[in-house]
Amino acid sequence: MHERANIRRMAGYVPGERPAAPAVKLNTNENPLAPGDAVMRALSEITPAMLQRYPDPLATRLRSAIADYHECGVDRVIVTNGSDELLRLAVTTFGAPGHAIGLVEPGYSLYGVLAPIQDCPVARVALAGDWTSPTDLAARWNKAGAKLAFLANPQAPTGALLSARAIARLAAEFRGVLLVDEAYIDFVDPTQAHDIVSLIDQTANLLIVRTLSKGHSLAGLRLGYGLGRESLVTPMLTKVRDSYNVDVIAQHLGCAAFADMGHARTSWQLVREERDRVARELGDLGIVTLPSQANFLLADIPSAFGDAQTLHALLASQGVHVRWFDVPRLRGRLRISIGTRAENDQLLSAIEASLVVRTRCAS
Ligand code: PMP
Repeated sequence: MHERANIRRMAGYVPGERPAAPAVKLNTNENPLAPGDAVMRALSEITPAMLQRYPDPLATRLRSAIADYHECGVDRVIVTNGSDELLRLAVTTFGAPGHAIGLVEPGYSLYGVLAPIQDCPVARVALAGDWTSPTDLAARWNKAGAKLAFLANPQAPTGALLSARAIARLAAEFRGVLLVDEAYIDFVDPTQAHDIVSLIDQTANLLIVRTLSKGHSLAGLRLGYGLGRESLVTPMLTKVRDSYNVDVIAQHLGCAAFADMGHARTSWQLVREERDRVARELGDLGIVTLPSQANFLLADIPSAFGDAQTLHALLASQGVHVRWFDVPRLRGRLRISIGTRAENDQLLSAIEASLVVRTRCAS
């Protein structure tokens, strides 16, 4: 009744399901490993006095740890309550009501949910037939008058990685703020030597978004951060953000996570190895996946398995949860997060069993 007309018209974000344990949960791209000992030790260090007082509003210790990790100035770092909060902050800081926000489709659906909250129309550009970003992406966002554009890299839900050179070109051509969402960057093969943090020096309109949800196994903690020139970071940090947006536990555990990169790196390597194996074994079953640099695979479900929605439901009934999206270009596909070796084995067995059942039914 009382909500603004744009809020009345819009639809909310639909998060992935949280199945009751025990389940093989491969539907929301979490890390297959639990957080390491250093983070759990830090959790045990939380005292009543720490909870009694407000946290450091500027999260200076955590921002300094992140700045050290990325070898940049602390004033170029902002921390947030999950990276989702930073996406929303960017919309409220850089998105002007009535002016478009650019995105590519298909993509992370939250982008299209945040835009109408700020009364911003969405300039959607479809990925090309081969799932690459069109070469005139910036021109099309510019034509729509976009003040801000979202680009997930690696791309979600394909897992494709756009090169640093392509990002630099896009930022140079685009007239608004280019937000590059690197939620899945930790899983990129190190042989790619991919890095865009160094672009910040030359690029005034580049805002990089990261999260500890994926690479650091901390989705439940809600901790994300942004890197960019002071001219982008300062207004979010000093004006638009809630004063105490990152709580004392998240600040303390975040510092511990950056002090112990070894555990996180082990998980990244596990994901890469299992990503290759799952892709190969799905291929052996006749299921083609797109080359992915993230911790998930987008699998094209052939008719031998029935349709993707049916396979999704069948797997769920056996306690194996993957993601099916009811949107154009994705209805025939499943997005499968990479789990532990044992979880991936269960997924592969369940998929293989579904094929056997169908073959038996057909004969
Ligand atoms: N960006 C992308 C592309 C994602 O897939 C997700 C997770 N759903 C996020 C950002 C948000 O991550 P978080 O809020 O947990 O940091």
